[in-house]
Amino acid sequence: AKASGTNRVEFYDRRVNQEFYEYFHVENDLRKALDRGEFELYVQPQFHTTTGELCGEEVLVRWQHPTQGMIGPSKFISIAEETGLIVPIGEWVLREACKLKAKWIKAGFPKVPMSVNLSLKQFLQKNIVQTIEMILNETGLPPEYLDLEVTESVTVDLDRTLDVLNRLIQLGVRISLDDFGTGYSSLQYVGQLPIHELKIDQSFVKKIGDGKHGEAIISMIIHLGHSLQLKVIAEGVETKQQLAFLKNKGCDYVQGYYYSKPLTVDQYKQFLRV
Ligand code: C2E
Ligand code: CA
Ligand code: CA
Ligand code: CA
Repeated sequence: AKASGTNRVEFYDRRVNQEFYEYFHVENDLRKALDRGEFELYVQPQFHTTTGELCGEEVLVRWQHPTQGMIGPSKFISIAEETGLIVPIGEWVLREACKLKAKWIKAGFPKVPMSVNLSLKQFLQKNIVQTIEMILNETGLPPEYLDLEVTESVTVDLDRTLDVLNRLIQLGVRISLDDFGTGYSSLQYVGQLPIHELKIDQSFVKKIGDGKHGEAIISMIIHLGHSLQLKVIAEGVETKQQLAFLKNKGCDYVQGYYYSKPLTVDQYKQFLRV
């Protein structure tokens, strides 16, 4: 018993050390990654559910790590949030996205908005509205082509959030409520928020076809969105069956592997045939 107890302690220590070690290194590498230009934008198209026409595109960040290869945001966004590095990283993403979109609009690419994810920490920065205004001015992007995706977590400070969202709307940008239905506050605040779009989280889309409550929740979100005069988009649409269900329920837009994975900028241009 004693021996196995010792083993357990050692095992535990090693595991904790390993996690600490990884965390420490990711944080250090993240600090350098911006200066070294290791981040890259991927683009995933969004479509009208009924016609299959392009209606938008979401920018998703990737980290081209010098030794570990391509790292997805699920591996580093939470560390970036905890360390505050999400603020400069998020600002870089926003600026690059606006530059790219301004160039594409000038070049005659489809006139659809580009969605950029804003993390809670970034959204709560005192100067967030000025930063976005400055980036729009710098890049010359007409504001209607920028769609900001925020999550329900922004309702932690409702008064402030209402003020910030109203000022962003004054600038002329669009606002989408991302991962809708996964937070605690979905129903409590959604009617009060000045937004344009609800984004149904992919966890609900996964449940289409299981004949249970997932489908009921999707129908409910679409009704709720439309009764609040909002557009509704579903993310994570992978199958014909999911698309058919969403079409039948009147969901406005879809995004997911069924149409396209997130693409590099070059791949996306090929996809658009421009
Ligand atoms: P999200 O905003 O919910 O983005 C959707 C995620 O679902 C993306 O993962 C996308 O690649 C993935 N996805 C799209 N279609 C499908 C599908 O049909 N099936 C499945 N299984 N997945 C699909 P990704 O790119 O790994 O990003 C993960 C999360 O990281 C994003 O979730 C977002 O919260 C965050 N993120 C990504 N880029 C940024 C960024 O620039 N700033 C911030 N703050 N967060 C970002
Ligand atoms: Ca998103
Ligand atoms: Ca989302
Ligand atoms: Ca999601």
